[in-house]
Amino acid sequence: MASSLRTLSDIEDARFDGRRVLVRVDFNVSISNGSVGEDYRIRMAIPTIEYLAKRGAKVILASHLGRPEGFDSDYTLAPVAKRLSEIVDRKMAVRFASDCVGPAVANEVSQMNRGDILLLENLRFHKEEEANDAEFCKQLAAIADIYVNDAFSTSHRKHASTYGAARLFDTRLAGFNLKKEVEYLSMMRENPPKPFKVVVGGVKIKDKIGALEHLLPKADKVIIGGAAAYTFLKAKGVKTGKSLIDHEHLPWVTKALTAFGDKIMLPTDHVAAVSPADTSISMVKGDIPDGMAGFDIGSETIERYSAEVAGTNGSGMIFWNGPMGMFEVRAFANGTVNIAKSMALAYWRGAKTLIGGGDTLEAMKKSGVNENEVSHVSTGGGATLRYLAGDEMPGVSVLNGA
Ligand code: ADP
Ligand code: MG
Repeated sequence: MASSLRTLSDIEDARFDGRRVLVRVDFNVSISNGSVGEDYRIRMAIPTIEYLAKRGAKVILASHLGRPEGFDSDYTLAPVAKRLSEIVDRKMAVRFASDCVGPAVANEVSQMNRGDILLLENLRFHKEEEANDAEFCKQLAAIADIYVNDAFSTSHRKHASTYGAARLFDTRLAGFNLKKEVEYLSMMRENPPKPFKVVVGGVKIKDKIGALEHLLPKADKVIIGGAAAYTFLKAKGVKTGKSLIDHEHLPWVTKALTAFGDKIMLPTDHVAAVSPADTSISMVKGDIPDGMAGFDIGSETIERYSAEVAGTNGSGMIFWNGPMGMFEVRAFANGTVNIAKSMALAYWRGAKTLIGGGDTLEAMKKSGVNENEVSHVSTGGGATLRYLAGDEMPGVSVLNGA
């Protein structure tokens, strides 16, 4: 599937010249007081945008932002247009349309010159976007000649901009990011370079089960930390005190331990406290006392995990999703910081490394590791986990003609 995805460079430059290209991007960034916070998602889209603009295309960008119900000025993409204009090649004009469909947009598009960039207003101001409404799809498709999807993170959804409208174009292409993301994830899902190691932490076991079911049989080692570790320890009969336990998924965890226990690594010591706000923390080995919860992996565990992650002879692949502890609190950030640094070390030693998950990315940055110390940063979040679980991705399949 991945290899058959056509991207921009797979078709002749001349086919973009003077053509209107609708690019679905993921500009769902955080905005406060009218300005963009973290702009990684905008920067990521630059290669696709500039590639098209340089070849004379009229680049029309469409994205959602948050979950507005109808028009809501708190969710306007205007600040994104401003940030985009600051980082895109200075020769390229960035304009902003006050809507994503309708006469005003048609008018804006008709005035575009070759190489211009137009960002449409938030798709989700129209409930028809998420409903994949047929009429709305037609309207979206009517403004362009060629369709490009560079928003892997929303491609698990059958929305108008990711699916219905896309189907109405003869030419549908994968943006550079989407292509890279699908290539890395499918390599990991189907045929990961060995040794293949998976590091899982965070809280949401439920969201990760599908991916784990797929990855557990393929992995050589599965390293578990974060709150997720306590459900595993509980299943093994270790005392976990007040630590976060996912009771609903204990049976699944028990089964996973039976089938794959020999490759699953669990913490043997912890940083525990009565509550996250508790200033008196304890280093605990083995059982966690009643009334206390584990908020980070302990130093002995850090040493073991770091050695496993960073120890590579220059081959193999490592996937990390989920912080090792409640990293937002300084006293519980050590485990996560060490894993982030070990991931960077593994990368510099030649292993392929992938990092996914909203909180994990934030944790990585907080640890002083940046995006170019990782082979691939997956911004897919939920989409990444679904893809790894083997789910169909309508926004990707549609590019192959589905
Ligand atoms: P991601 O967004 O990367 O997929 P998750 O959303 O699954 O990660 O988990 C991130 C959250 O897990 C963080 O907010 C972190 O505070 C929390 N967390 C990690 N370890 C623990 C723990 N031991 N106890 C409570 N919360 C934890
Ligand atoms: Mg999260």
